[in-house]
Amino acid sequence: MADIDSYIEDLKKKSEERFEQFKIVDISSIKEISNDAYLEKPTWLGGDKKFVCLFIDLDKSSKISFKKHPKTMAKIYDYFTQNIVDILNHPTFGADYIDIKGDGAFGIFEGDKASYKALYCAITFKTLFEQSIRDKFSDEEDQLSCKFGIHKDKLLVRKIGKRGHGNYNEVWAGRLVNNAAKLANQAKDIPQDIAYPLSLPILISEQVHSDFEKNKEFGFYHCCTGNGQPLPNQIEMFKEVNDFSDETLGDKFYYTRVIWCKNCADNYINLI
Ligand SMILES: [Zn+2]
Repeated sequence: MADIDSYIEDLKKKSEERFEQFKIVDISSIKEISNDAYLEKPTWLGGDKKFVCLFIDLDKSSKISFKKHPKTMAKIYDYFTQNIVDILNHPTFGADYIDIKGDGAFGIFEGDKASYKALYCAITFKTLFEQSIRDKFSDEEDQLSCKFGIHKDKLLVRKIGKRGHGNYNEVWAGRLVNNAAKLANQAKDIPQDIAYPLSLPILISEQVHSDFEKNKEFGFYHCCTGNGQPLPNQIEMFKEVNDFSDETLGDKFYYTRVIWCKNCADNYINLI
């Protein structure tokens, strides 16, 4: 056993050096976090540029997971998380960065169309979830359920790990990812849609909603019911919830329960 005192002294010295060298550089693309140059330096990627995060995870309040065998749970994760990751890799509206987190996954989107792409990924997964994934793993007592949150904010991130060891982890110090997850959790306070009680809400923050207000052609309106049947007229995509207050998310958010109908999919996805 090596001398633990000198080992700890060495760690203290290295941390002090890191503390002195700490800096934040402006990020221009989320892809920069894969740059090895940042791996061992205390250099974080941040700045004023805003990114959009779509966070999707299993709703554990259904308690379905506690009743199942590990093998069944593994099947659920495989079906659930793999599909999220596949959709986040969509060639047209996919994310620019994808990660798995706990019972779900998130994607980070950049560029002018970030908010729109994030919503299209969410609607795509919701459509698949409600048409096939849910029924495959639900029984009469318990419905498999999931949560969606889309938020837009600055980010502050660094990859922590050791060069050449392969196991790095991004550390998200900014609020982007956490707030997208926090928003997803608000789904429990949204009343069920009476016509489509199993239709899940996709929650978006005010910042994301304002992108749809600015460019309404990307999905401010839609024409489908909660089960994807076209309506005769276009209606607003998002409903407002304003009995809400959060220090960083603001005092309202919005949600939609839309799943793709052919009209909407053709109209919106072709704009990307
Ligand atoms: Zn439609």
